[in-house]
Amino acid sequence: MITRSSKVWVDNVEDYLFCPRKLYLTEVIGAKHPEPIRVQEGKKKHKVREKWISREGKCGVVIKNEELGLIGKVDGIVEHDDYFEVIEIKDTDREYYYGSEKLQGVLYAELVEREKDKPVKLIFRSRGSDKKMSITNEITSEALKAVEKTRKLLEGKMIPRVNHSEKCIRCPLNNVC
Ligand code: SF4
Repeated sequence: MITRSSKVWVDNVEDYLFCPRKLYLTEVIGAKHPEPIRVQEGKKKHKVREKWISREGKCGVVIKNEELGLIGKVDGIVEHDDYFEVIEIKDTDREYYYGSEKLQGVLYAELVEREKDKPVKLIFRSRGSDKKMSITNEITSEALKAVEKTRKLLEGKMIPRVNHSEKCIRCPLNNVC
């Protein structure tokens, strides 16, 4: 089996998809920024939802895969007779999910499927509702390509340019970018 020396966290991939420059500044250059209040609030709600998941399955499960060089902390895993449910918690009342959130969920599902060697179903759990997301070969391939781009960035093999967008308004690094 091929193994990779450096492991990429799934959260790093989501950060890469949000803005490669931000990931570069924080993880490669070491730029620090205070945690935004909305993130602090989100973490508190996340803890409460984790308690709910622990009534039906396991929460906060760290899984790594040598072949993919990938590691992630899965919000929730619920075992059924012939499949596993992978639960990704999102503190939102949006009716849709961002592309980066979908790829993040797909990567958790991929880690669980390889670890457990059983089919998985991916569920996004938001305020008061569960939404199932179907996983295609195309989206899995897209997610795995994003892992490799993230690895390249973390290894210092690329320096992303500033790409001003509406994301910069809520970015805590917009004064140093
Ligand atoms: S200010 Fe904009 S370009 Fe710079 S790191 Fe933040 S989101 Fe990325």
